[in-house]
Amino acid sequence: MRTELEKIVGPAAVDERPVRDMWPVAIMAEREGKAPPKVLVARPAGRDQVAAVLRWAGANNVAVSPMGGGSGVCGALSPAAGEIVLDMSAFDRVAEIDETNLVCSCEAGVNGYALEEQLNARGLTLGHYPSSLPGTTIGGLIATRSSGQESSRYGSIEDMVIGLSVVLADGTFAAPRPGPRSAVGPALHQLFVGGEGGLGVVLGAVLRVHRLPEWTVGRGYAFPGLGAGLESMRAVMQSGIRPLVMRLYDPEDTVFNGYDLKSGECLLVAATAGGREIAEAEAAAVKKLAAEARGLGEEPWQRWLSHRFDLSAERMKAFLEPPGSYLDTVELAASWTVLPELYSRVRSAIGVGGLALCHFSHAYQQGCCAYFSFAGSSGTEAEARAAYGRAWEGAMSAALELGATISHHHGVGQARARWVADEMGGWMRVWRAVKEGLDPGGIMNPRAVGGPR
Ligand SMILES: Cc1cc2nc3c(=O)[nH]c(=O)nc-3n(C[C@H](O)[C@H](O)[C@H](O)COP(=O)(O)OP(=O)(O)OC[C@H]3O[C@@H](n4cnc5c(N)ncnc54)[C@H](O)[C@@H]3O)c2cc1C
Repeated sequence: MRTELEKIVGPAAVDERPVRDMWPVAIMAEREGKAPPKVLVARPAGRDQVAAVLRWAGANNVAVSPMGGGSGVCGALSPAAGEIVLDMSAFDRVAEIDETNLVCSCEAGVNGYALEEQLNARGLTLGHYPSSLPGTTIGGLIATRSSGQESSRYGSIEDMVIGLSVVLADGTFAAPRPGPRSAVGPALHQLFVGGEGGLGVVLGAVLRVHRLPEWTVGRGYAFPGLGAGLESMRAVMQSGIRPLVMRLYDPEDTVFNGYDLKSGECLLVAATAGGREIAEAEAAAVKKLAAEARGLGEEPWQRWLSHRFDLSAERMKAFLEPPGSYLDTVELAASWTVLPELYSRVRSAIGVGGLALCHFSHAYQQGCCAYFSFAGSSGTEAEARAAYGRAWEGAMSAALELGATISHHHGVGQARARWVADEMGGWMRVWRAVKEGLDPGGIMNPRAVGGPR
């Protein structure tokens, strides 16, 4: 197999090594001595090489997973022995930044942070700031249907993608269609936004970009409780304001973030942006809608800004090093009326082992994402696995029973494989038909969107 790959991409672009993403289960397994198997990693240098690898893999019934930064947290990138990984890092070109039409074309392997820096240098922004941005690629951000810290203003990745270029499982090619919008059939490229590499390989994207706001006003507020904070978030979103950032921390997460507020108080960080007059007027409106809260001034916003990328893959790995420790995050989303019950049920399910935190961000007029973090440590690896499994089980069943989504932005991979059909219902038939139609041999990432079932 190695010789065949070398013929396609050249000997220097093939190596053999273990590959995994940042799924905590894989990290915990590694610490128990169960490292992922070594697999062949090919680094194609152009569209024809990607197509040739896929054609060879199809003819020889070998599975292929595209790889970006490896920062996914759901075990979607977890190749088994005998499979191939397509390292997309040679697709690293930002082809065009069109400042007049506010469009950017770039290849899938471009680093998310590097793209943002290039845009910023021209007074532009993609507005996509997942906490993991420095470790991501554009292809991975698209394939996982990611969402960033500024999503309440700029939307999530699906709102940014105007078009995609893709190599399908049989080696054929689909190019971006004309923007800014088209009614020529459904927006089929959106099937690849969240497809986790299960349908084909994203080579590049045409993305909507924005002018950097002239002015930003950020403030902190202390709410007497979570209910009052959520009501204010809802009021802000439904007033038509699109805050740059709006995050509400539950009392435990407020303390965890280093705020010594009154017992039970919840921190809200809110920033508005735009022309100076608009940003200031919207900040004044947010203040009015946060009437129940104590103003904390600008400091919480500045502090949040300087720590926005602190939750790194390295820190996650370091926390998971000691035997018996576990840590994960679960990001659900629900309508405003469901959020309070979702919060209390999930919190009690994940809180049994020790740390349980929640913040609310990615707000919409209709509802919001509830982002839970939990961690603990047990005497043995088996106990740690059991506690970790119970936390997931509790969170997923609460979400499904209450009609919340089981993932707002991390995706499915292996982490949610057990529950994906429960949320998708009849849409699972559509997904399977698309998968079977485009990839009848099942060579594209077998662990995408819960895998074959
Ligand atoms: C500390 C930390 C914080 C995080 N914070 C956020 C956050 O705020 N918001 C958020 O949305 N996510 C977050 N994540 C999750 C992660 O960063 C995202 O899932 C990210 O989009 C993955 O990009 P990647 O390039 O690393 O993809 P990878 O992990 O390499 O791959 C992810 C999936 O995409 C597929 N894929 C990759 N490239 C391609 C391609 N070119 N074509 C087709 N399929 C492809 C892979 O096969 C795999 O299934 C966080 C992760 C960590 C570790």
